[in-house]
Amino acid sequence: MRAIPVFLLTFCCVFINISPASAWGEKGHNATARVAQKHLTKCAERKITRLLDGHNMAYWSSWADGLRSYPEYDFIRTWHYANVEDGGDYASEPKLPTGDVYTAVEKCVEVLKSDNCDSVKSVYLKMLIHFVGDMHCPMHAGRASDRGGNGYTVTFRGRKTNLHSLWDSALLDGAHVWSAAEWAENIEPRMTRRQRKAMAAGTPMDWMEQTVDIADEIYDGTPQNEDLNWDYINKYSPLIEEQLLEGGLRLAKMLNELF
Ligand SMILES: [Zn+2]
Repeated sequence: MRAIPVFLLTFCCVFINISPASAWGEKGHNATARVAQKHLTKCAERKITRLLDGHNMAYWSSWADGLRSYPEYDFIRTWHYANVEDGGDYASEPKLPTGDVYTAVEKCVEVLKSDNCDSVKSVYLKMLIHFVGDMHCPMHAGRASDRGGNGYTVTFRGRKTNLHSLWDSALLDGAHVWSAAEWAENIEPRMTRRQRKAMAAGTPMDWMEQTVDIADEIYDGTPQNEDLNWDYINKYSPLIEEQLLEGGLRLAKMLNELF
């Protein structure tokens, strides 16, 4: 991977605007980061806040999506997703030479564990917050043949859209008229420490394969010839809530271990 000059990283961190783009949508990323923030240890939170220029994780959670228009960040263009064909699994699928969401998470962890300077770690921390969210977004483990559901046309509440966009944001907004803060607040039931630990268990590879299985199930459960409405929302909103919650708890677990 190309090295990024430190002055450029500092420039980018300070001046790049965050623009809402694809992937969970800004709301899902924000909610994931908010869940994670609640479960940081005091020590981890202090170090993380310093690397995030005094902001919380939600503030930076969609930052990596806004980097798409910056040529110096071309190297992360394919880091938001992985493609797995029907019935396949991530581990045995041919890999993108430019990296995918799984290798992105691994790369971010590697940099955060290294002795790189804080300005570099700051960039990779902001990316990790985002890519753990993407890793739990089902259509980010979709099929290459339809560009992760972008070419899979569906009708949702009378409007033509596609499976990717439906799962990034339309289904969230259809399920609950909540802000990101309300999502984070409301999706976490009262749980014992043991239950929380069980939800956060596993490795990034396990989480990736789980999302691949979920994507498969969604393809099978999403007819293209009918108007998806409350039946679909009721069927799948618990799954969205679980993916956001697990993404947040797992991100917190990773960060507590790293910091
Ligand atoms: Zn993304």
